[in-house]
Amino acid sequence: MHVLIVEDEVSLATELQHFLTQEHYRCDWASTGREASEKIAVNLYDFILLDLGLPDYDGLDLLRETKELEHEPAIIVLTARGALEDRIEGLGLGADDYLPKPFSLLELQARMQAILRRKFKVKSSVFQFHGLELDSVARRVSYQDQEIALTKKEFDLLHYMLLHRKRILTRLQLTEHIWGNILEDNYDSNYIDVHIKNLRKKLAEYIPSDWLETVRGVGYRLMA
Ligand code: CA
Repeated sequence: MHVLIVEDEVSLATELQHFLTQEHYRCDWASTGREASEKIAVNLYDFILLDLGLPDYDGLDLLRETKELEHEPAIIVLTARGALEDRIEGLGLGADDYLPKPFSLLELQARMQAILRRKFKVKSSVFQFHGLELDSVARRVSYQDQEIALTKKEFDLLHYMLLHRKRILTRLQLTEHIWGNILEDNYDSNYIDVHIKNLRKKLAEYIPSDWLETVRGVGYRLMA
């Protein structure tokens, strides 16, 4: 999952980044509204953690901007203001949740997982397909209780494709998800094909190869 932290308090932003990276999220950080606006325009985020009190921007304006994106990230509004009106206004504009500061990191994580379940209509953190099981909390993939060893990137790819079952995912979407900000990294779209190839090879021992469709010139679609 690719997360943008929009927060001008350096210590809180650093703490969030550290925690979420540990929890296997990919994080970008914007300390101003302007910076956030630029990042939102070029990257496909799964989550935006949005502080409303920014030095140069009203956070609610940023929320309006994201609602106009084709790819809509889930938004959790963080605010120290604590005012009920903010909460109502934020949710009215389409924020997925609201956390008053200070909040616990575990609370944040629980809210993020709840949003994911709601957004992707999954009932639990365990996914089944073709007799395989992927446990997104334990980060484990198994077949009849036998663990299949995947690399971190292979696991993240499979998890992401399971969340988007039967939808075509472009190479760009998958790369953004696995590598984060492609404009800043040394990016090569072939990387994704290499990881897919390895994943296919590992799963071929257990399930028929038609679980993943290659959509020529576009990307991939998980058929399950
Ligand atoms: Ca602030």
